[in-house]
Amino acid sequence: MTRRHGDSDVWQFDTSPCHRVVIPASRGFCEAAAAIGVTVAADEPLTRHTTFHIGGPADLCAVANDIGRLERLTELAVAHALPLTILGGGSNILVSDDGLRGLVIVNQARDFGLRAADLRWDEAEAALPAGEANVLAAAGTALAGLARWTIKQGLAGLEWAVSVPGTVGGAVVGNAGAHGSDIAGTLAWALVAYPGQGRQLLRPVELEFAYRNSLLKRQLASGERPVVLAAGFRLTPGDPTMLAARAEGFLARRRASQPTEPSAGSIFRNPAGDYAGRLIEAVGLKGQRVGGAQISPRHANFIVNVAQATAGDVLALIDLARGRVYEQFGIELVPEILFVGEWPTQPPYAPLRGM
Ligand SMILES: Cc1cc2nc3c(=O)[nH]c(=O)nc-3n(C[C@H](O)[C@H](O)[C@H](O)COP(=O)(O)OP(=O)(O)OC[C@H]3O[C@@H](n4cnc5c(N)ncnc54)[C@H](O)[C@@H]3O)c2cc1C
Repeated sequence: MTRRHGDSDVWQFDTSPCHRVVIPASRGFCEAAAAIGVTVAADEPLTRHTTFHIGGPADLCAVANDIGRLERLTELAVAHALPLTILGGGSNILVSDDGLRGLVIVNQARDFGLRAADLRWDEAEAALPAGEANVLAAAGTALAGLARWTIKQGLAGLEWAVSVPGTVGGAVVGNAGAHGSDIAGTLAWALVAYPGQGRQLLRPVELEFAYRNSLLKRQLASGERPVVLAAGFRLTPGDPTMLAARAEGFLARRRASQPTEPSAGSIFRNPAGDYAGRLIEAVGLKGQRVGGAQISPRHANFIVNVAQATAGDVLALIDLARGRVYEQFGIELVPEILFVGEWPTQPPYAPLRGM
């Protein structure tokens, strides 16, 4: 059950796993959040905020529904020494069964449009460069919805994204892509806050985009806390009917090849010149089950939650697939998904024999 913070019900965090003590240390944070119109929930199950429907509770959880509140909440978290995690659509992560200590911000800042004024953020005009982008989106905007809207506007460049779950912020972090295109192809800039240290406007070259990777993804993995506030895209004119047909073709390919059960999309990056799904199938693991998790019988690079799977079940399948593929092919499969929360080891998956 989700509890709301009241005067007598406030948590403090100990650095050791799963030792939460009820003392009034985060009351100040909750009061400051309330002052900007944000309610903070305690012990929020993250099964509700991930497409895998897996994950233990967040100690504290707040929804940011505009850019100003997103930035303010991150600053408050730092000021109150709360560990901080931003969730977009929760579609590329595995949250540990112990959940997340500190504050989780669910980013629902979803304003977008053709100009800075569309972002419902007082500081937009001053903070964003004029003329470099013709579509602007708050980081919590659903990427697929933005893609559909740009198609209707007769703007080409995001058709590939109509089938990709998650938010613009998550897509910038992971350089999301499909059908031979990716975020790096049309992004003009991303406005990134480093809580307690100010904002940076980063262009693609500074974001160091690579296949499903970026500077921000590496920073997150090393414990830094970049927060994507907004992104600008440079799209080109196109015929809406032709763009819609192209997008529909991509959707049809998806429907024919991908599972429909809860998942986090592709588990592993494709190794150079090959496909993770092909390799996992070749070692006989398609359909393999551990607990409530299964390597999808439809697409072997998807692990699906078929019966209240735990993060531990998914991790066991990841270890199994990595181990078998390495033994038979000498290829190391590298997870594409991000692991968040507390795990006994870092990275949480087992080392390969001999590496
Ligand atoms: C069915 C399915 C199909 C998929 N297909 C594809 C595909 O074709 N191509 C592809 O690339 N991906 C695919 N994915 C994976 C996923 O949709 C993308 O990686 C997506 O871009 C993740 O966005 P998100 O908002 O859900 O990020 P989340 O999963 O919420 O977060 C991912 C990481 O980014 C961080 N983050 C999120 N928002 C912010 C922010 N504003 N600031 C700072 N950090 C942030 C989080 O802390 C986390 O570390 C698929 C997933 C599913 C479930």
